[in-house]
Amino acid sequence: MILPNAIEKEIKSILISKKGDGITIMDMQPVSGGCINNATKIITNYGNFFLKWNINASEKMFDTEVKGLELLRKSKTIYIPQLIAYDHNYLMMEFIEKEPPSNILWEEFGRDLSELHKVSNINFGLDHNNFIGSLPQDNKQQPKWTDFFINQRIIPQLSLCDFSSDIIRDFDKVFLKIDALFPDEPSSLLHGDLWNGNFVFLKNKTALIDPAVYFGSREMDIAMSKLFGGFHDQFYSSYNENYPLSEGWQERIDICNLYPLLVHVNLFGGGYYSQVKTILNRYI
Ligand code: ADP
Repeated sequence: MILPNAIEKEIKSILISKKGDGITIMDMQPVSGGCINNATKIITNYGNFFLKWNINASEKMFDTEVKGLELLRKSKTIYIPQLIAYDHNYLMMEFIEKEPPSNILWEEFGRDLSELHKVSNINFGLDHNNFIGSLPQDNKQQPKWTDFFINQRIIPQLSLCDFSSDIIRDFDKVFLKIDALFPDEPSSLLHGDLWNGNFVFLKNKTALIDPAVYFGSREMDIAMSKLFGGFHDQFYSSYNENYPLSEGWQERIDICNLYPLLVHVNLFGGGYYSQVKTILNRYI
């Protein structure tokens, strides 16, 4: 998709206001890999910038993404690309150059994420709602993780799915078992959408991008990391060394992943339905 003129004009004037009249845009190249928005690499004589844009974006989508990035940045635990500017329809950041993975990068990433997860809040949720992909994410705060998970994560997604009453009944049965499954742990500041496309290895650190931040069970980030094949073993071992996961965490991965799977059903269609059904059958 071609960058709309109005956004291009605004970007140019922002870059001039920040870098001076001497800045020239030399090229704009599409960036692939995103699921929701369009992305462009802006090449200038003052370095490269990353622009993601969406003329149909919900009013607060980029605004809440920026809030999430700033919360993660404030934790001082993991690198977050510098913000340049944003509005309803776009978000412009420092362009980060991807580097190939290495054992050391995986190891540091695991440790950094465990440090992020040590940042806690009295309640589960957040002081504002945000988005998961392009879908609204309800963060109404609750003192108990399993209540939050059922009421703010699963039920809102279920209400968007076109599931049969049998499946809804199966969810009700699983809800009755969830409380006893999870450990009593403090909330953790989460990335909230930690799949392989939402972190980038740089020369000597890892950057997080595209979060859906909230305070939740840290097992949500760990489970999401395993949804599409999993991260490198080194990541999990350094995470566990620094902030050991509670016993039985492997057993809860599928329950946690009901949330991203329902999101995938709602965003990308029924292909993920069978995974949801398999998980339900395991737990009822
Ligand atoms: P979407 O919101 O559509 O999911 P993403 O935020 O995931 O979009 O970004 C789309 C693509 O752009 C991904 O491939 C990602 O690696 C890349 N990307 C995201 N942020 C940056 C950045 N600051 N610099 C360079 N590439 C980036």
